[in-house]
Amino acid sequence: MTTQLGLEGMPKRLFSCTPSRLTSWLDCPRRYRMTYLDRPPPPKGPPWAHNTVGSAVHLALSRWWSEPLAKRTPATARALVERAWSTDGFADEAQALRYRGHAADMVARYVATLDPCEEPIGIERTVATRTEVLAISGRVDRVDRRGEELVVVDYKTGRAVLTADDARGSLALALYALACARTLRRSCMTVELHHLPTGRVARFDHTEESLARHLSRAEAIGAEAVAAAEALRAGGDPDELFPARPSRVCSWCDFVRACPVGLAAAGAPKKPWDGLAAEES
Ligand code: SF4
Repeated sequence: MTTQLGLEGMPKRLFSCTPSRLTSWLDCPRRYRMTYLDRPPPPKGPPWAHNTVGSAVHLALSRWWSEPLAKRTPATARALVERAWSTDGFADEAQALRYRGHAADMVARYVATLDPCEEPIGIERTVATRTEVLAISGRVDRVDRRGEELVVVDYKTGRAVLTADDARGSLALALYALACARTLRRSCMTVELHHLPTGRVARFDHTEESLARHLSRAEAIGAEAVAAAEALRAGGDPDELFPARPSRVCSWCDFVRACPVGLAAAGAPKKPWDGLAAEES
């Protein structure tokens, strides 16, 4: 990690971060510390089955675009999900197999709505931008070109159905839009959440002002995180500098076993497959 030194007459060092690092600070400074600063980090809990689904779906959708045009079909999408699959987090082989089928159906339905000839500008594309205090980089699921504009596309596989408000309020999506514009040298104001389970698209068209608001929020978050890390290095109290912020998220936190506050908030422990979408009967 680089930090902002701010010494008189010396060039400032930027705080290098991803959008998810910044949102991690917002969600819970304690979890931020355990993820990014504690070395070695506390042991994580077992893998989550819903993350296995998300990873396989993302990987399949990324590989689908690498196929020759004639093979960009729903059948190929199914095969790619099966190839990317793992049984991590599932109760047993039978459950993993059923969910592999659901995921393959979901991705096949989704790609049937795409025009395989509309080659995206980027797939899993790393983009970056910087301000006077932040060096932001991250990987975007997909960058589309529509006319003269770029569009950030983020795939979602979770249970929650997303709205335009989610797209508007997403710090990560706004930062990706700014980073796409900077890296790919083309205007990028639109962000979209593609919710694969329902096929719904939540879209928001940013303005210069709304992007600037997100950017200044990112700078404020970065400044807080850097200040806390510096105070920690100077011998400050880790628990005071990085307070636990218990919430419903604690049940799903990888570090809950190392966090007494979160453990108390989490209630009954979740099983690794509890986050899976319910199966249709
Ligand atoms: S269990 Fe909750 S309070 Fe503890 S680190 Fe995780 S998110 Fe934060």
